[in-house]
Amino acid sequence: MSQSRDFLSQRALGVKQSAVRDVFDIAMDPNLVSLAGGNPWLSGLPLDELGKTAGELVSRHGTESLQYGPGQGLEPMRQAACTVMAGDGIPDADPELVVITPGSQAAIDTACRAFANPGDVVVVEDPTFVGALTSFNTWELDAVAAGTDEHGLIPAELDATLELMEAEGRRVAFLYTIPSFANPSGALLPEDRRDEIARICAKHGVLIVEDNPYGQIAFDGRPLAPIAAKHRDQVVYLGTMSKIFSPGVRIGWALVPAALKREFYLSAESAFIHASTHGQMLSTAFVDHFDWQGHVREVSGLYKERAEALWDAVKEHWDPAVEFIRPQGGFFLWGSLPEGADTLELMTEGIKAGAVFVPGAAFTPVEGTHSTLRLAFSFVEAEKLVEGVKRLAPVVNEAVAR
Ligand code: PMP
Repeated sequence: MSQSRDFLSQRALGVKQSAVRDVFDIAMDPNLVSLAGGNPWLSGLPLDELGKTAGELVSRHGTESLQYGPGQGLEPMRQAACTVMAGDGIPDADPELVVITPGSQAAIDTACRAFANPGDVVVVEDPTFVGALTSFNTWELDAVAAGTDEHGLIPAELDATLELMEAEGRRVAFLYTIPSFANPSGALLPEDRRDEIARICAKHGVLIVEDNPYGQIAFDGRPLAPIAAKHRDQVVYLGTMSKIFSPGVRIGWALVPAALKREFYLSAESAFIHASTHGQMLSTAFVDHFDWQGHVREVSGLYKERAEALWDAVKEHWDPAVEFIRPQGGFFLWGSLPEGADTLELMTEGIKAGAVFVPGAAFTPVEGTHSTLRLAFSFVEAEKLVEGVKRLAPVVNEAVAR
């Protein structure tokens, strides 16, 4: 249909195809070792017991679990979200200020809908989560990168970026940040930087959207308190069941400052009415009647082993000029080749060599070539991770030597 483009909005036409989406399709090839997908490991879940619970939710409580529910989310699910947030380091979240969403991706999108006008700026750490960049792009927002190091967002860089936006008369809708074991960098923002960032945002009158899906996947078992723990009125805090339970259940939430709750909740309702009732009830059961914290400990231990195997392999097989941020939690290892290397090109060569990673270009609003890459260790067994690193070694080492 030649005129089909006429049907599309400027907004839809402007949405960039994410490099990661292509990679995920390629990564399904069973002959490739995938270091690309950040899927959680689910085989450790008590699947038989969960199956029984899911079945009973239909056979015994079907008139409720298959029915519409309240837009803000079911009250027991909002309580369960508060239980999970206590594990994140927010002990006193109010279930009245929680809005349940179909995953935190929908909460990010709702934040755009509720807080941003087309053309506004969203300040992001660079690199940042590709799904958030796609939402910002869809809502016609300008993602502006603030500088990071191996500890995450640099407060002075954030301050300078916000000063510049003020000088240019730009409206900053919010800062989007992932302080704990970020996707893709794995970086853990230290406590003093968390306070500093809250102080800088308060000074500039900028709202913070804090996204924390990985906080409890801490290899030392001690999550760092989120920014929202101390600075509740400045922060829209996002949580999810995706990494501690199941991403397929599609349940996440936002803990919203009281003054913003009504608009956030109405924005969410206009997009999706509410999150799946059955998914909420199953997630609530997981938190209330299963050893969810034991499961988090188990998977964190497994991810730690895999992260160490991956770390040892890149140190053994890749040129030492490739620098990494050592993960202390989460799903990802972030690497930087020397300036000038193009990891988008290397990805194609890597696929020919039998392994796939995600090139850094996917995770930044900054155009141009990028010498960074993300390796995911969450889903693939240690031996396969090592095999993937070995397959990629000639490609990576040759690019370093070039
Ligand atoms: N935020 C970050 C930082 C993520 O890494 C992800 C998942 N990859 C999401 C949000 C989306 O998660 P959900 O399944 O809760 O929508």
